Amino acid sequence: MEQPGVGRINSNENENASEKKKMSEEFESNTIMESLIDMPLATLDIKEEFGITDVAHKNKESSKGNEQVRKDKRKKRKKKDYQPNYFLSIPITNKEITTGIKKLQNAIIEQDKRLAKTMSRDGSFHITLLVMQLLNEDEVNIGIDTLLELKPLIEEILQGKHLTLPFQGVDTFESQVGFVKLEEGDHIKQLLEIAEVAKRTFQEKGILAGEDRSYNPHLTFMKLSKASWLRKKGVKKINPKLYEKFINHRFGEEMVYRIDLCSMLKEKQSNGYYHCDSSVVIGL
Ligand code: AMP
Repeated sequence: MEQPGVGRINSNENENASEKKKMSEEFESNTIMESLIDMPLATLDIKEEFGITDVAHKNKESSKGNEQVRKDKRKKRKKKDYQPNYFLSIPITNKEITTGIKKLQNAIIEQDKRLAKTMSRDGSFHITLLVMQLLNEDEVNIGIDTLLELKPLIEEILQGKHLTLPFQGVDTFESQVGFVKLEEGDHIKQLLEIAEVAKRTFQEKGILAGEDRSYNPHLTFMKLSKASWLRKKGVKKINPKLYEKFINHRFGEEMVYRIDLCSMLKEKQSNGYYHCDSSVVIGL
């Protein structure tokens, strides 16, 4: 779960002091702890240091004059302080796929009931396109604007065609994260291209975005880190036997119709999906 090159936030901005106080109170709630465990990149000591505010709307008063100053400040932030707390998400909602994943999850739970706690919840299925760090209201606003700017760039890559993602088979990252795989094909090339453009576009705005490792699109259905106490009980790896019946299973196709800017930490929506600060529809 630990990410190479990614450390804790070193808070050094006075302006965040009141936000931080608010945030530390927020983090004391169990709900937030649940979100932390469920977040795409779970690094649990994140909670002490983040200056995240509950941003529902854009602050229209941000002056352009201060923009350059803020950009320079963000650039100065050292890479070691980088801990993603936001991500671009492609929601996976096709019932055929989600039903297939639930069958897979149930088949695993039947073999080991303790693993129930490690399963991604209904409504939360997604493909992560890009992870990033947005530390305050200004940065979230920049994220919202940047996603809007990204929409035509993505549509240019797709050249008026839909991006359809076919899912087949199961694999793991280091036996810790279980995911449904994308079939081979041109859609992967397009997805990689979109992820690259997204990373560049956000970075050009001074947002810390992306990871050291290369992008590997996947549909997560379980993470051992969601139930770290299992390690003490000897459950340290996802045994391939648990999912062997699904190793070549075709889960179905998702047509990409939306990209969301989501928080890893804020309380999830009642439908199980992540809190989104903005969304763009692709192809409209
Ligand atoms: P996500 O499906 O994006 O929520 O990611 C689920 C988990 O997989 C996170 O804990 C990520 O850190 C981890 N992960 C994502 N991509 C990789 C990768 N290429 N190699 C290893 N772990 C990864």
